[in-house]
Amino acid sequence: MLSHFEKIYKYIWPKGRYDIKFRIVLALSVLILAKIITVLVPYFYKWATDSITGNNSMPAMFPLAVFTPIVLIISFGVGRTMMVGFSQLRDAIFAKVGQNAVRAIGRDSFKHIHKLSLRFHLDRKTGKLNRIVDRGMKGIENILRLAVLNTFPTVFEFLFVAIILLYQFDWRYLLVVVIVVFSYVIFTFAYSSQRNYYRKQMNLSDEEANYKSVDALLNFETVKHFNNEKMEADRFESAMEGYEKSSIKVLTSLSILNFGQTLIFTIGLTVCMVMSGMDVMSGTQTIGDFVMINALLMQLAIPLNFFGFIYREVSQGLVDLNSLISIMSINPEIKDKVNASPLKINSGQISFNNVSFYYNKKRNILRSIDFNIPQGSSLAIVGPTGAGKSTISRLLFRFYDITSGSIKIDSQDIRDITQDSLRRQIGIVPQDTVLFNDTIEYNIKYGKIDASKEEVETVIDQSQLREFINSLPDGLNTIVGERGLKLSGGEKQRVAIARAILKNPRILVLDEATSSLDTLTEKEIKDSLVNLSKKQTTLIIAHRLSTVISADKILVLNKGELVEEGDHKSLLKKNGLYSDMWFTQQDIEKAEETLKKVKPEYKKLINK
Ligand code: ATP
Repeated sequence: MLSHFEKIYKYIWPKGRYDIKFRIVLALSVLILAKIITVLVPYFYKWATDSITGNNSMPAMFPLAVFTPIVLIISFGVGRTMMVGFSQLRDAIFAKVGQNAVRAIGRDSFKHIHKLSLRFHLDRKTGKLNRIVDRGMKGIENILRLAVLNTFPTVFEFLFVAIILLYQFDWRYLLVVVIVVFSYVIFTFAYSSQRNYYRKQMNLSDEEANYKSVDALLNFETVKHFNNEKMEADRFESAMEGYEKSSIKVLTSLSILNFGQTLIFTIGLTVCMVMSGMDVMSGTQTIGDFVMINALLMQLAIPLNFFGFIYREVSQGLVDLNSLISIMSINPEIKDKVNASPLKINSGQISFNNVSFYYNKKRNILRSIDFNIPQGSSLAIVGPTGAGKSTISRLLFRFYDITSGSIKIDSQDIRDITQDSLRRQIGIVPQDTVLFNDTIEYNIKYGKIDASKEEVETVIDQSQLREFINSLPDGLNTIVGERGLKLSGGEKQRVAIARAILKNPRILVLDEATSSLDTLTEKEIKDSLVNLSKKQTTLIIAHRLSTVISADKILVLNKGELVEEGDHKSLLKKNGLYSDMWFTQQDIEKAEETLKKVKPEYKKLINK
């Protein structure tokens, strides 16, 4: 528990935020004032009762002529109003402190999650992660509000009451109250830690249910394609069933906790009232004392009851925050070295030197890959599916560290430079383009956030998007839908090409960059890409060999090994894997051509 407090300390008492610290101090001062009034209110009750029964028990410093029974009753009312007023004022002052902490932890966790490596993100379940962050943010607010605003003042109030008990009554009363408070706290602690177990179970089921519902929603079309709505609903329900069971346990155990707390307190209150009643009868106390002990203890019941609630909420908040803090404690797999310097790019030459790599120890993906892409030239990697082509581009981005060998850009090992400077110099058109659910313009500008209107217009032409955008009622302001699903595969890919051109990187990776385009559009875009790759060092990954003929060099990758290399002509002469793949694809393309001849409207259709 202590380590949690250490971690959340910076959110409770934020460095350099004097405004927040001032608010905390102010809220605590108002609170102490409220507590002093709270403890004095029973005195007015006692004095009013005594003066009504003709027994003046007020200290001599209060002039009797002013403090008539009616004035005392009104003073009691005013005291109670002030007590409530100050408590509300405290909450109002403190609101900003809590919300500031929520924002700070939200921001930090967002930044941290984005710092985590690809491996973490491929393993994560979005719905689950969302829930953890949400609950963690609420957790910190509860902890702050309750622990700071209530634990300390409750202790203060108890000490104050203890002094009054000793002064106004005697040690026997104090002893009873100490025993009550002690038993109350022990019982609350013991029982609440048991409840935390149920709470954890409840959270787990909640995360599970949320992950299943988010996953099913993201795959909405697939669910429909396979008529699996019922199966998805059942999966969701089974997670909700777990949630239902554990939340019932949380709620029923709360009733037991509440009852136990009230029982302990009521026994203490009754004992004190019996003692006071006997003292009144024996003449050592007044009726005012009898009502005062009752009022004093009833008032103590509020923070004490609250203390149970605080402990419950704070420990639940800690359980919630714990999951978020565990995520925030995960070390990113790929980290910059302490003395990492920014990439100094001269020519943009890339070299893979004897690179081997696996995602999982049990399965090697790349073996001793060796190649060099000189400045401004293009290298294509082709090969069967699963050979490891895209993995090479992931390694170039340093999403994973290689197992052995080295990857260098202009003779600088990418492990020695900062990730930010590395990725700033590389642009990619990925195999599967995923867009942000925003406008087309936003998605294009993602390549260069501060791009001018003219720059955007130019790349729209270069990526053959003009006609498409003009045909849209909202043009560039069209919202592309979740993950860009309102656009066709080819349209998405052209947006990806546009943003890569806009980024204008020194190194360009084209991972099946034109695979979703029809032959005509592909030919048109190719000119832009060729122009671009004249200036840049380009790595092309492709299935369709017709797209790599013009590459300066072609590598053939098979099962993680380089099996052939050369330019298009020399590879054909080798009669190896490349020429096999080439002739098979030629046959397919010829068949497509024939189909086009048979159906003259085909071309029109594909260009629609
Ligand atoms: P394709 O042409 O089908 O896109 P590829 O040659 O680009 O294939 P890669 O995506 O590099 O292939 O994948 C190479 C192998 O690594 C595949 O067998 C794939 O299953 C495996 N792989 C890819 N990513 C991961 C990952 N994150 N964890 C474990 N294995 C992975």
